Amino acid sequence: MSNPNAVDADLVIHASWIIPATEDNLVHRDACLAVADGKILGICSSHAADGHFRAGKTLHLDGQVLIPGLINTHGHAAMTLFRGIADDLPLQTWLEQHIWPLEAQFVSEDFVYQGTQLAIAEMIRSGTTCFADMYFFPEASARAATEAGMRVQLAAPVIDFPNPWSANADEGIFKTTQLHDAWRNSELVSTAFGPHAPYSVADGPLKRIAVLAEELDLPIHMHVHETALEVAQAVRDLGQRPIKRLYDLGLLSPRLICVHATQLNEQDIELLKESGAHVAHCPESNLKLASGFCPVDTLLTRGINVCLGTDGAASNNDLDMFSEMRSAALLAKAVSGDASALPAYRALRMATLDGARALGLDRMTGSLEPGKCADIVAVRLDELNTVPVHNPVSQLVYSTQASQVSHVWVNGKQLLNDGELTSINRRNLLEIARHWQDTLGTRYDTAKQ
Ligand SMILES: [Zn+2]
Repeated sequence: MSNPNAVDADLVIHASWIIPATEDNLVHRDACLAVADGKILGICSSHAADGHFRAGKTLHLDGQVLIPGLINTHGHAAMTLFRGIADDLPLQTWLEQHIWPLEAQFVSEDFVYQGTQLAIAEMIRSGTTCFADMYFFPEASARAATEAGMRVQLAAPVIDFPNPWSANADEGIFKTTQLHDAWRNSELVSTAFGPHAPYSVADGPLKRIAVLAEELDLPIHMHVHETALEVAQAVRDLGQRPIKRLYDLGLLSPRLICVHATQLNEQDIELLKESGAHVAHCPESNLKLASGFCPVDTLLTRGINVCLGTDGAASNNDLDMFSEMRSAALLAKAVSGDASALPAYRALRMATLDGARALGLDRMTGSLEPGKCADIVAVRLDELNTVPVHNPVSQLVYSTQASQVSHVWVNGKQLLNDGELTSINRRNLLEIARHWQDTLGTRYDTAKQ
């Protein structure tokens, strides 16, 4: 019998486990989560559901775990169309001799729209509900994300030299403010400044970004200390390490997301800590490009917020946050020489709530808490590779395959139903990918000869 004091819910999802990602190792067993108007109403034990909620629709997910949607805090979604095109090369060669020439030749609004659609489909399929994206034509990415019902933070690129989207840094900054104006009331799209890297943006534009970000209350998203070469060249040419330069320019603050941070000395770490800047750790991209190792365990010990990103599919080569969590946890142990470094529950929090904090979206998403948006993922743990379930958090980080993601909701809207995409046509996407495979493949092979 329904309790007269019960609250109306559009949807009540019962699952064998619910992990809100609010506290370390908190797992609700045989529980349910209620959703109304796209927001989370609450969580209670399944047998008490009728006392709390009057369900419009009820879903029973036995053998499954509910977690907050994963947050991929760094990537270049449209670069999915370059997946596998220039592998096994060092970063500078990869960028300067392959990626930049390809971008100059092929990147357009259509390329970005279609590449981002493909990336979003892969991300939804693997449990990501929010991604931060730094790429040209961000208005096309915004369109792809809103059509798919996906949450995105667009780090609009600012680069000194001409690129497919802007002639110089000033134009990049201006277009970022336009983008912010256009999407400021969107429920799904937020904007950030995306100065590409310390070596590709001069002091003047960086200072302006620091001021504008404060005025407009926007995050700043930047590749920082990705390789030893980047730091060595800055010391040689400018006489200081990039993080110190950013500090002097007023960019280091809780607004700044430093992507990669593989080369950190004691002074860098102290400046990150003092300023409250965040680090977006991209372990698989760093491994593939042999960029170095982010000292995650040290950063966490010092109280610096570390979140996770895949980087683009051209340097990963997928957008799977489950394998990213696993790689981060394993790499942290190897780098610190300590098997207790980055335990599973912490890796899960890095991929959820700590990611939301870095993007300034933690009041909206990142955990399963009443009042937050219903960004929810269900994962099947009753598969041969994830039983017995002694510890669902351990299974999620160390054993789960992305294909075990069964259902995904963003803002309460279902985007994946029993493994099937609901807002994106898979067949169309395969055709689009085939078109770019033919277009890029033919010309790229010719260009190499
Ligand atoms: Zn990147």
